[in-house]
Amino acid sequence: MDLSIIIPVYNEAESIPTLLQNIRQAMEPVPCCWEVVFVDDGSSDGSQAVLEQLAKQDEERVRVVVLRRNFGQTTAIAAGIDHAAGDVIVLMDADLQNDPADIPCMLDKIAEGYDVVSGWRVDRQDTFLTRTLPSRLANSLISWVTGVHLHDYGCTLKAYRREVITGFRLYGEMHRFIPAYAHWVGARITEIPVRHHARKYGKTKYGLERTLKVLLDLLTVKYLNQYANKPIYLFGGAGFVLIGMSMLTLLVIILRRILLDEHLVRSPLLLMSTMLFIMGFQSIMMGLIAELLARTYHESQHKPTYTVRRLINPNGIHPQDLLSGEALEGTPSGGPKAGPLLPTNRYDP
Ligand code: UDP
Ligand code: MG
Repeated sequence: MDLSIIIPVYNEAESIPTLLQNIRQAMEPVPCCWEVVFVDDGSSDGSQAVLEQLAKQDEERVRVVVLRRNFGQTTAIAAGIDHAAGDVIVLMDADLQNDPADIPCMLDKIAEGYDVVSGWRVDRQDTFLTRTLPSRLANSLISWVTGVHLHDYGCTLKAYRREVITGFRLYGEMHRFIPAYAHWVGARITEIPVRHHARKYGKTKYGLERTLKVLLDLLTVKYLNQYANKPIYLFGGAGFVLIGMSMLTLLVIILRRILLDEHLVRSPLLLMSTMLFIMGFQSIMMGLIAELLARTYHESQHKPTYTVRRLINPNGIHPQDLLSGEALEGTPSGGPKAGPLLPTNRYDP
């Protein structure tokens, strides 16, 4: 399978048949093998029956994953990716706001060698104050914080090479951060303008509260990227700063006692110094606990701390097997020795 188009569906019964028809039209001139994976995210408006009908009509191209309840768009997308067979994955909305006619251009860009092609709704058809404006601000902030400069993180219509998006799990509202994750595993990213239409049927599932969720997700993404392997640098750093401030305050107290003959407990400085010290100490302790968690995170999943683009003359050893000991057990005598390779798969010797 060359291409999987993944579409999360939550109460979009009226749009789906037209959408599938539009996809067929758009894909007709493209010489590739494609499928559509619809994920019904707990719809209650009969979307499921519509999807069943469409799947029955075209068993080869239409796949449907029906979730047990509404899990949210990001989780629905994750389920779609897990059930997709394509080497290239295109994500899009079910509400006809994205236009499948843009997919061939995206595939051209992938063929040029890009790993991620991000859609940019140049002429966005949403209400300005509650949707477009917050989204513009969020895009600038996300671009600045992640260092991946895109005009439209919120546009679902994006194409990905499978290998750059299967290495991590998606939580919360995080599907919009996939390009940033992909960039961190070394993906080449580009952006193309795409069409955008006003919603014809149904209504949007989101309001302004999403902006807050996106900000919190951004914080998580930044933390995971920069400090997940070395959390002590963040917490320990903050701890040192706080303890440093505590010591400075203590110095001021002592100088005031000696030079000005001030009584120690007459000012709040002593209390402040103690508080700062305790906070700093706690922060360092938190960093140490986070270090333990980082090890649990990587080692419980046999997750290396690097990503490999390609191997030249590989020797057949799979690092994950080495970490779990399977390679050693499964290798007949005379097979490759695992010992010297082991430390390179760990992030601390
Ligand atoms: N969606 C979903 N689960 C949800 C909310 C939304 O699968 O809990 C789907 C929805 O059916 C649509 C896409 O996610 O295909 C985008 O939703 P919507 O159009 O409401 O978002 P907007 O375009 O307004 O940002
Ligand atoms: Mg929409």
